[in-house]
Amino acid sequence: MPELPEVETTRRGIAPYIEGQEITEVLVRQPRLRVPVPEDLAERLVGASIGPLARRAKYLQIPLADGSATLLWHLGMSGSLRIARLGDLPKKHDHVDVVTASGYVLRYHDPRRFGFVDWQQGDGSKDKRLAHLGPEPLDDAFNGQWLFNLSRNKRVAVKPFLMDNQVVVGAGNIYAAEALFMAGIDPRRAAGRISLARYEALAVAVKEVLAAAITQGGTTLRDFVSGQGEPGYFAQQLNVYGRHGQPCLRCGSELRRITLGQRASVFCPSCQR
Ligand SMILES: [Zn+2]
Repeated sequence: MPELPEVETTRRGIAPYIEGQEITEVLVRQPRLRVPVPEDLAERLVGASIGPLARRAKYLQIPLADGSATLLWHLGMSGSLRIARLGDLPKKHDHVDVVTASGYVLRYHDPRRFGFVDWQQGDGSKDKRLAHLGPEPLDDAFNGQWLFNLSRNKRVAVKPFLMDNQVVVGAGNIYAAEALFMAGIDPRRAAGRISLARYEALAVAVKEVLAAAITQGGTTLRDFVSGQGEPGYFAQQLNVYGRHGQPCLRCGSELRRITLGQRASVFCPSCQR
C-alpha cells in the first residue's frame, strides 16, 4: 500500500513532467473509484495549466496555475501515478489520463480502485479530508515536545497513539513499529507515561525512518516515464516489521508479535522498554 514516502516520491517523480504544462485532454476510462470521478473533471481542467505539486499526508495536491481549483489525488490501497507518452496504449486498470500539451500524460493505475481523484475550489486547503490532520512528520512542528504535550493523561498505548493521524501523519504501521524500535520504546507503554526525553528520541526516529524511505524511494522509483506498468514500490530494510520470531538485529532476542489497536505489532522485548 502506498504510504507517505511513496506519495512523496511520486510527487517528486512526476512534477518535472507536468508542472507548468497546459492540460489538453482528460480521459476517464473508469469513473467508479472510491469517490466517483467528478463528471465535470475534463470541463474543469482542459485549457488550464498545472501549478506546483504539493502533498499533505498521503494526498497529492495538483493545483491549477490560475489558483481556481486543486486536484486532490489519493492512491488508496493499490494506486499509482506515472508518466506515459501520448500514444502509449493504456493497460488494464489504467483508469484516468491527464494529457498535457507537451505530450506527457499523467496516468492513474489502480487495480483495487480504493484511490480517488477529486477537485476543490482554490488551493484545496479547506477540503474536509485535510482539516483534522496532525503535523507533517518532517516539519519542525512535529517534535518531542508536541508528542509529550498531546500524550499527557492518555492511557492509550504509544504505538496506536503515534499512528493517530491527528498526532502526526504518515506514521503507518511499518514506520511506527520501526521508529519505536529505533527509540527503544515498548509499543505497549501508555502514551501518557513516557518522558519528554524519550519522546524527543521517538520524534527523531520517526523523521529518520520516513526520510530514509523517501530517499530510498528516490533511488528505486527513478523511472517514472516508462511503459513498464506501475512503479514498483520499494521494500525498505526493516528491523522489526514482518520479522516476528526472528532474532533482533541489535541484541539477538526473539522478536515478538502482539496485537495493538487491531494492528499486528512486532517488537524486541529486550531492547524496547
Ligand atoms: Zn533487541
